[in-house]
Amino acid sequence: MNDCLFCKIVAKEIPAEIVYETGRTLAFRDTNPQAPTHVLVITKGHYANAAALADADDGLADDVLKAAHAVAVKEQVAEGGYRVVFNTGPAAGQTVFHVHAHVLGGRALTWPPG
Ligand code: 5GP
Ligand code: ZN
Repeated sequence: MNDCLFCKIVAKEIPAEIVYETGRTLAFRDTNPQAPTHVLVITKGHYANAAALADADDGLADDVLKAAHAVAVKEQVAEGGYRVVFNTGPAAGQTVFHVHAHVLGGRALTWPPG
């Protein structure tokens, strides 16, 4: 996926502030943070969104959720509470079509989201 922004971050062609990394996942700060902690957890391989990741059916979705929780612990928001969001498809506001979990925390989060 030569033209994918997040593949370029994986390839270190575009810089990012990496906060956590595993063999198959990478977590870095969102450049337009919506909360004091706003980290994106991505798969190193390219999947368009959470639907494609779910279809991968090889434990990779588990890895992403575990990485999201590890980020929350590392960012010290796990105890107080945090939110994990996958915007999936245009109607949900997905703008980057490489699967990413938003990990949000550090403030009271309203419900329902907009
Ligand atoms: P989406 O709208 O697809 O759910 O989320 C995409 C997210 O990627 C947005 O929150 C946006 O701020 C973030 N983003 C877009 N471009 C970049 C970038 O170049 N670097 C980083 N770290 N985040 C980005
Ligand atoms: Zn990609």
